[in-house]
Amino acid sequence: MKEIGLYVHIPFCRSKCLYCDFNSYECREDDAPNYVESLLGEIGEYQKRYDFTYKTVYIGGGTPTVIKSFLIGSILEKLAPSIKAGAEITMESNPGTVTFESLKYYKSLGINRLSIGLQAWQDDLLRGLGRIHKSEDFLYAYDSARKSGFDNINADLMFAIPNQTLKMWEETLLKVADLGADHISCYGLILEEGTGIYELNKEGKVCLPDEESDREMYRMAIDILNSYCYRQYEISNFAKCGRECKHNLIYWSNEEYLGVGAGSHSRLGDKRFWNYRNIDRYIGMIEKGKLPIEGQEELSGDEEMWETIFLALRLNEGLELRGFENKYKVDFQSRYEDALKKLTAQGLVVIEEDRLKLTEKGKDLSNSVFIEFL
Ligand code: SF4
Repeated sequence: MKEIGLYVHIPFCRSKCLYCDFNSYECREDDAPNYVESLLGEIGEYQKRYDFTYKTVYIGGGTPTVIKSFLIGSILEKLAPSIKAGAEITMESNPGTVTFESLKYYKSLGINRLSIGLQAWQDDLLRGLGRIHKSEDFLYAYDSARKSGFDNINADLMFAIPNQTLKMWEETLLKVADLGADHISCYGLILEEGTGIYELNKEGKVCLPDEESDREMYRMAIDILNSYCYRQYEISNFAKCGRECKHNLIYWSNEEYLGVGAGSHSRLGDKRFWNYRNIDRYIGMIEKGKLPIEGQEELSGDEEMWETIFLALRLNEGLELRGFENKYKVDFQSRYEDALKKLTAQGLVVIEEDRLKLTEKGKDLSNSVFIEFL
């Protein structure tokens, strides 16, 4: 029996945020029963074909909490025989889409980790991002989740967003840290082509913080969250002791996982494959009795090594060199001699106790570090 992680994609949202390029559809919640039926078909197909046990389950989206809660119940009921006892089961949620009753129900299903998308504390900034909620909705969701028994809550925050000042970002961090969330994710806004914000920026209608402010905000997050005893364990993620996200650690450790639902990606053995993104296409494939896989690729040895390096470098503990050498049968220092010399001289990486790690400067310039190992 193989133990892997499972990702379940729910591609529905109440409305599309202006920066979002995730596979999510607004105002199509009426399609959710049909979609979930297909999802159950896909899960069942994998249960027939493989002997997997899921050591983590992550229900993401989209916004899983916009569909009728009993549909989430039917997914977990189907998965139940394949979930390892004590597994971390996370569900993403957004303020404005949960109630105390729905949260109590989710908890009763065995969901033991809740991720709440706040992004920013200031309602003006939230409106500018096209978010449907205000900070008071976040407070209600957070408080209701605690009262429903969730003792493992993540808050998603975003910096370098239009019109955000350092003071505003500081307020967001302090408010969430004061509440005592168990885990905090801090991602900088990325302008993705085709999104509303990308177009507004092109037309000069939004003002984004410059590169220097972006880095200042990032360092501010590290300083403030450290002072509240959060440990930065990944470039963008901070956790109280023992509250690191086990599911995401599977990705960063380049371990195996299965993704079900429209557009989800999987990595099994040396194969990667991905499902159709379009939900009608996805449902159509399941109705024909087929797995909804759109494409697959086999990674070469070099590609897999690179992936393992850059994913591990995202983690504060870095890459364990002996383990890497045993797995890929290479001598790390000689294989990557040029990159190591250059990056060490620039003060971007360091080797400590058999682990290759990014320095603080390296975290700021992580993308250029990753490229050197290509
Ligand atoms: S709630 Fe999340 S998934 Fe939905 S539109 Fe906004 S950013 Fe995208």
